[in-house]
Amino acid sequence: MLDCFSATKKISKKMDEKLSLKENIQLQSHLIYCKKCKRFEIQTKKIDEILKMPPEKILEKTSHNICLNLETQEKIINKVKNKINQ
Ligand SMILES: [Zn+2]
Repeated sequence: MLDCFSATKKISKKMDEKLSLKENIQLQSHLIYCKKCKRFEIQTKKIDEILKMPPEKILEKTSHNICLNLETQEKIINKVKNKINQ
């Protein structure tokens, strides 16, 4: 069984690359009973959706719709910067 730390790490990994079948099963079985990680997954997905938008939309969204912690805000800002530099 996964602990919450490994589960959240896998959730973040899932956003960047595909998980193996084994990892997916481990993660899904953790998410069935762990509400905390489930919430983390939902938030991560939301952030991922936001990151696919153009930068000006991102600022609009983040200021109105969701309340993000500082770490997440920094993550978004860094991603936006990376996109601009590409
Ligand atoms: Zn958990």
